[in-house]
Amino acid sequence: MAKTILITGAAGFLGSHLCDRFIKEGFNVIGMDNLITGSLKNIEHLFPLKQFTFYQHDVTKYVHVAGNIDYILHFASPASPIDYLKIPIQTLKVSSLGTHNLLGVAKNRKARILVASTSEIYGDPQVHPQTEDYWGHVNPIGPRGVYDEAKRFQEAITMAYHNEHGVETRIVRIFNTYGPRMRLNDGRALPAFFGQALRGEDITVFGDGSQTRSFCYVDDLVEGIYRLLMSDYVWPVNIGNPQEITIKEFAEEIIKLTGTDQKIIYKPLPTDDPKQRRPDISLAQKTLNWEPKVSRQDGLKTTYEYFKNLPQEELFKKEHRFDNL
Ligand code: UDP
Repeated sequence: MAKTILITGAAGFLGSHLCDRFIKEGFNVIGMDNLITGSLKNIEHLFPLKQFTFYQHDVTKYVHVAGNIDYILHFASPASPIDYLKIPIQTLKVSSLGTHNLLGVAKNRKARILVASTSEIYGDPQVHPQTEDYWGHVNPIGPRGVYDEAKRFQEAITMAYHNEHGVETRIVRIFNTYGPRMRLNDGRALPAFFGQALRGEDITVFGDGSQTRSFCYVDDLVEGIYRLLMSDYVWPVNIGNPQEITIKEFAEEIIKLTGTDQKIIYKPLPTDDPKQRRPDISLAQKTLNWEPKVSRQDGLKTTYEYFKNLPQEELFKKEHRFDNL
């Protein structure tokens, strides 16, 4: 009999790719999303399938789903610094109250739950590269605090449900990930740079561009999450691509790929923007036999194709996501 998986944040960037993967693996997929930052466009191709069901629901409110549930993936959350600034309270609630609700569902249904944590729990790290045993360096009251601390609380409550109630839990710490279906105007570096290149605008690098990130292609991330869910490892696991690059070099790669003749302009570095970030993935290599396979060159090419083929009006649309909140 096919297993059933509930995926929250199903209409988001990562959630929609996870829906695709679990459909492909023969699961019945129940997608859930309140559509605040997600978009139905990301999953509209799944609606005709009988293995796919969708609930428009906010997981910070009581969650009820009919029928059997074997697995839960909790991927609902705003995930870009602009979102945290615009909707700080929703950001706090989805990973605290929302996680609590989903752990309750997991406990009642005897389902295994995997929660999406993040490299942000390491804050502006003083240990480099970041290993899972590093406790982090987070400013709780800065603009990113609403995300970082909610995700830290999420890890704590997830371990507590495991220890006290014996719930089968998994925690993935996701590092910067990119690919098709990223929201064009979410303020993140990669969609910002592609959007600017396609509109013929200058490329905005924050600070002097010497801060580093390590970008993982979405298919690699999804494979790591799949393996972690199916493993018996309950402690947090870093999933990301250890190929580190400065943001200035990253902007230059995108300028080269898109063939734009725009120049780089420099803007102030946002508060608490981490100076460096690179996952140590030895644990994932050892316990999941996982490592990323897609080079940045190939991943960026595929992602560029996606952005290039967006309708022109999408490309020039200003951010209206939160106007109705
Ligand atoms: N960034 C930038 N220009 C932009 C958007 C972002 O230089 O238009 C920088 C940002 O300050 C950060 C890096 O790119 O240092 C990655 O930002 P992103 O929001 O993608 O991810 P995060 O900071 O959450 O890792």
